[in-house]
Amino acid sequence: TRRVLLEGSTTQEKKGRVPLGVRGKKQKRVLVTGGAGFVGSHLVDRLIERGDSVIVVDNLFTGRKENVLHHMGNPNFELIRHDVVEPILLEVDQIYHLACPASPVHYKFNPVKTIKTNVVGTLNMLGLAKRVGARFLISSTSEVYGDPLQHPQAETYWGNVNPIGVRSCYDEGKRTAETLAMDYHRGAGIEVRIARIFNTYGPRMCLDDGRVVSNFVAQALRKEPLTVYGDGKQTRSFQYVSDLVEGLMRLMEGEHVGPFNLGNPGEFTMLELAQVVQETIDPNAKIEFRPNTEDDPHKRKPDISKAKELLGWQPTVSLREGLPLMVSDFRQRLFGDSKLTGG
Ligand code: NAD
Ligand code: UDP
Ligand code: UDP
Repeated sequence: TRRVLLEGSTTQEKKGRVPLGVRGKKQKRVLVTGGAGFVGSHLVDRLIERGDSVIVVDNLFTGRKENVLHHMGNPNFELIRHDVVEPILLEVDQIYHLACPASPVHYKFNPVKTIKTNVVGTLNMLGLAKRVGARFLISSTSEVYGDPLQHPQAETYWGNVNPIGVRSCYDEGKRTAETLAMDYHRGAGIEVRIARIFNTYGPRMCLDDGRVVSNFVAQALRKEPLTVYGDGKQTRSFQYVSDLVEGLMRLMEGEHVGPFNLGNPGEFTMLELAQVVQETIDPNAKIEFRPNTEDDPHKRKPDISKAKELLGWQPTVSLREGLPLMVSDFRQRLFGDSKLTGG
């Protein structure tokens, strides 16, 4: 077990030397697990901008130091290379628990590790929240609805998940993580928040992470054919990362436990997505059909009425607006064209 103290932790508070955030309020100490990953690093940017003191705990499995490099040297930022499957002692006020590979290719790579991360990792972070009285937000997923029999999916739907399939390490893992959060909430009085995140895209996604938006964008930029799995008629709803981060922060700061769907209700077939990528990057990009993966959900679209009503939140960036922002970032990372940097 490791113990890490940061500026503004209890010892300093006792001495009355509590650092103030930019807005003059008591500075929040926030832990972001998985904060070197795609979503986590964008969240860290917003928290730092707000004046919080941020600790990232990440084992760098799918995350990259480059994603948070711009905060290195900032006294309000700390990166700890650590695996959440092992316990850790920290003093914080809030925990955004995002550590878990999100791309099917990554989470299937070592399924036992994925389920340990979701179960033991979440248990450890809840234990930490209990010890220090921190508020805890779990990043769950639309995958808890499995191959849904209800469309669009509302939070009241219990889902249609295969417990023994190749995706189970992730979707059953996340279902258990939600269960743990609720049990710590009911049993130990922990303040928890549950976000069910739908497919999200944007700058800093891994170039070859296997998810459909990052695949299509990288393929179109490299002049390779876009790989459509199956007949391409399956649907997903794609949310731009800044909308998600706004939703996560509103959920954390608000009074409601959830679960809340956080996603963009705009629904696209994979063939339609390929078309948008063609329009955005290269109208001549070819499409190549490949066999689909096992247990692939046929459709997915969030019902976000609850988040609209109780969090006052809804996405503001459409796919056609968000995609170009991601394309500039990918172009820069693929070809080093700094003139086109974005995001
Ligand atoms: P990501 O793979 O970019 O980020 C995950 C981060 O967690 C990485 O930095 C990785 O190194 C770290 N990590 C993984 N296992 C760890 C462990 N055992 N200990 C410490 N760190 C570990 O993925 P993302 O898209 O940023 O997803 C972030 C969270 O949001 C995940 O929990 C994911 O399940 C959830 N989510 C994402 C989406 C999406 O579309 N991006 C959709 C639904 C849910
Ligand atoms: N834990 C942790 N950091 C802490 C407090 C707890 O990593 O600051 C871990 C602890 O090692 C345990 C898990 O969280 O494995 C659950 O802790 P809890 O206190 O709820 O359960 P217990 O230790 O009683 O089993
Ligand atoms: N997909 C695709 N081509 C790719 C990668 C994925 O057609 O190169 C499809 C995949 O079969 C699925 C959808 O895109 O139907 C979304 O897949 P992704 O892995 O991005 O996310 P998830 O399945 O977790 O929603």
